Amino acid sequence: MDHFTYEHGSLHCERTAAEAIADAVGSPCYVYSKATLVEHHRRIAEAFAAVQPLICYSVKSCGNLSVCRTLVECGAGMDVVSGGELYRARAAGCSPEGIVYAGVGKRDDEIAAALDAGIFLLNVESEAEFENIARIAREKNATCRCALRINPDVDPKTHRFTTTGTKETKFGVDIDRARAFFRAYGHDKHARLVGLHLHIGSPVYTTDPYQQAVRKALALREELLAEGFEVTVLDVGGGFAADYETGRSPSAAEYARAIVPILEPAVRAGLKIVLEPGRSIVANAGILLTRVQYVKRSGDKTFAICDAGMNALLRPSHYDAFHFIWPTHPDAAFVPQTRTKEPTMQGLVQMDVVGPLCETGDYLALDRAMPPVERGDLLAVFTAGAYGMSMASRYNSSPLPAEVLVDGERFTVVRRRETYEDLVAHER
Ligand SMILES: *Cc1c(COP(=O)(O)O)cnc(C)c1O
Repeated sequence: MDHFTYEHGSLHCERTAAEAIADAVGSPCYVYSKATLVEHHRRIAEAFAAVQPLICYSVKSCGNLSVCRTLVECGAGMDVVSGGELYRARAAGCSPEGIVYAGVGKRDDEIAAALDAGIFLLNVESEAEFENIARIAREKNATCRCALRINPDVDPKTHRFTTTGTKETKFGVDIDRARAFFRAYGHDKHARLVGLHLHIGSPVYTTDPYQQAVRKALALREELLAEGFEVTVLDVGGGFAADYETGRSPSAAEYARAIVPILEPAVRAGLKIVLEPGRSIVANAGILLTRVQYVKRSGDKTFAICDAGMNALLRPSHYDAFHFIWPTHPDAAFVPQTRTKEPTMQGLVQMDVVGPLCETGDYLALDRAMPPVERGDLLAVFTAGAYGMSMASRYNSSPLPAEVLVDGERFTVVRRRETYEDLVAHER
């Protein structure tokens, strides 16, 4: 699952003690495990080897340059959703041929930057956007490859905020409209419509929504080929789940077993496959360390008030997401064997783990069974690598946390903690 384990009762990331990191860089801080990143990328590459996919890591899941660079070194491309992420991907050393760009609201300057960089694929989400891309390409006398994002209308059975492939979402176009789309734009000389793109949601804990969506996309492709269109790329998107609880998510091999056989015939006939995993690579590769400032009891409720809240990790309050939270130095009886919503040890106490912000919605966990904690204890919020730091805010003038990348017994601060000067640096 990952390289965060309790050794002699104390939480380690690879061979580095979590406490040593917090002592050196302070809290809150994000800690990433390089070995976990590399391993998760490798598992996807190996599982899908039969279809030789271009694996484009989703930058929005965790955009830290050193994290991106680690994955570029593994051979990953990058999936970007803004001009800022395109810049980030290039700064991390990703070659343009490895970059795919999705997003419903691409601005002219962002499209121009993508054309200038010569990226592999622009994923187009509407007729109006295609016309704009074609216009900009024509004016630059450039060519680019585009894939039409289709909406396969399958339910990924995940949170409504991260359901992206059903009819009522803003993404892509319905399959019925896709044929008309190719008839209208499929022969453009500058914006060359050469592919189909899907991204059904995240996290998708079962494999059948992928099977349904891929079958629909391949059937559409057959129809388009029969009409004489070129459809050489199928981008299957991201959304593979992560182990927020031990053993909860299908493995890369399980997703591949479900999807690869459906893709194989088309791949043998020349179809190029793109995958856009984010969460499944980086979620388990990161934790958030936060220190308990106060323990407060009111009535029969206990609050562990920490130095990180929704500003550092938005997922619990925004998506109602579960993150396993545990002290980095629990008593011997409380060393966890698994990460689960309902640990069964004797002597746990129910508490809300909350942040310091002036919001009732500022929490990391509600009604959670945890070992008793006291002021000064360091807590680890697990599986926080994806959509953690990348969604962090400065609300309540909270400087953004530090980020640390661990490699064995060494660790490097890959983003320094922000200062109060940073908070006001862009203002006058
Ligand atoms: C967010 C996103 C992804 C990554 O999703 P994960 O769940 O992190 O794998 C991939 N493709 C697109 C278009 C996205 O918007």
